[in-house]
Amino acid sequence: MQRLLEGYARFRRDVFPQHRDRFRLLAERQQPDVLFITCADSRVVPDLILQTEPGDMFLCRAVGNIVPPHGSMPGGISSTIEYAVEVLHVRHIIVCGHSDCGAIKAVLPPDPADPRDHRQVPRLPLTTKWLGYIEPAWKYLPPGTSHDDHRALHTALIRANVIAQLENLKTHPEVARAVAHDALQVHGWYYDILTGAVDAYDSGQRSFVALEEWAERQGAGSRK
Ligand SMILES: [Zn+2]
Repeated sequence: MQRLLEGYARFRRDVFPQHRDRFRLLAERQQPDVLFITCADSRVVPDLILQTEPGDMFLCRAVGNIVPPHGSMPGGISSTIEYAVEVLHVRHIIVCGHSDCGAIKAVLPPDPADPRDHRQVPRLPLTTKWLGYIEPAWKYLPPGTSHDDHRALHTALIRANVIAQLENLKTHPEVARAVAHDALQVHGWYYDILTGAVDAYDSGQRSFVALEEWAERQGAGSRK
C-alpha cells in the first residue's frame, strides 16, 4: 500500500500538472477509438505496451480475457461491449491473451515436470464455472498440436482461446451489426511477457503473425 500512496503523491505532484490540459478536455467526455479486452493479469499493462494515454482506450479486464457469448451471462463484460459499441462507437475491439496465463493453465492437465503445479481451481467454484468458457478454445488448436509438450500446449491453447473469445464476441448482436456495416473491426492478439512482443491473429491465414507483419499485410490488402 505504501508504494501506491507514494505513486499517488508523485502523480499529483509531477505527472498531473504536465497533462493538465488533456485532463481538462477529458473531464467531461471520452471518445476512445478502441475497446481493449484482456486478462486481469498484473503483468499485462496495455497503456505501457501500446504507449497509450488517458482517453485512448476503453478497457475491459477479466480472468482469461474471456468474453461470454451473447445471452449466456448478462454481466460486466457484455455491458462493457454494448456500451463501447452502441454509445462510444469504438472502431476496433482487441481481445488480447498473454503468455503464461494462469486461467488457461488451470484448464490443462497438471504438468508432471512442474513440482509447483498445484491445482487451486477445484476449490474455487466461481472460477471453475468461469473457466468453462475456455472449453471451445480446444477446437481452435492448430492441427497436429502436441499434447506431450506441456509448455507448447499451454501457449497454443492461450492463442486458441483468443480465437474462441473473438468468436464469442461476434455473437453479440451490436458487434455483429457494426462489423457487418464496416463500422467496427475485431482483432485477436497474443502478448509475450518475456519478449514484450505482440502477435496478431490473421483470420485469412488462420495463424498468428508479428503485429508489424500483420499491419503490413493489412496495408497491402487495403492498397489492392
Ligand atoms: Zn491471464
